[in-house]
Amino acid sequence: MQTLTAQMCAEKIRNAKRVVALTGAGISTAAGIPDFRGPKGLYVTRAYDPDTVFDISRFDHAPDEFYRFTHDLFQVIDTLKPTFTHGFLAEIERQGKLQCLVTQNIDPLHQLAGSRNVIPIHGNYATSRCRKCHAPYDLKWLRTKLGQEEVVHCDACGGLVKPDVVFFGEMVNGLDEAEREVTGCDLLLVLGSSLNVYPAAGLAHIQHADVCIVNKGHVNLPARSNRYYADTDLDSFFTDVFGLMGLDG
Ligand SMILES: [Zn+2]
Repeated sequence: MQTLTAQMCAEKIRNAKRVVALTGAGISTAAGIPDFRGPKGLYVTRAYDPDTVFDISRFDHAPDEFYRFTHDLFQVIDTLKPTFTHGFLAEIERQGKLQCLVTQNIDPLHQLAGSRNVIPIHGNYATSRCRKCHAPYDLKWLRTKLGQEEVVHCDACGGLVKPDVVFFGEMVNGLDEAEREVTGCDLLLVLGSSLNVYPAAGLAHIQHADVCIVNKGHVNLPARSNRYYADTDLDSFFTDVFGLMGLDG
């Protein structure tokens, strides 16, 4: 793939009319969220296996491992601040450049940074639902309950409650909307994703628009004349882009 410089990236954003961003775990690692599968990842240090933690059929009869993971994750999340790159995306949305942000992450860092039009394609913890009577719950309720019990049950019927995080074997969230947004864009930024997890990764296979990828490490996307790639640290790259766009101060 063609090499992407900060200068080129700044120009492409400046010239674009409709920008859409797709973000993955790599944007959150600098905030202290472990890349879950990386060497220091939460799964590794706490010995969680993502294939069991997020297995929906397992959750229904043995939800305790998922809730132990959630408990640990919340403790990490409380100490986090959005990165420079999260802030950059919120800023270009405020300026009317960025139309939409599709994220594979289940952390709330984009929202904390001030991004508004976020499609969390793998869901998140903002809402939960009873598996039995479908009663909806918010994050505050979930956190209160997690302080009281190891596995969270419904106030109304006692059924098992599941946060709206997308598990393996479940439909992803908002894929149609994400595809519409990507189809309507003239520049797609792919940040911190190795593009290995489908169907989210499929969004980067658009033909009609430029795709600018910034990720530390290999990205799984065939080369094309309108695909550009920087294998580098996101925050230092976008600090440069920010300066080149004249957004300083
Ligand atoms: Zn219920």
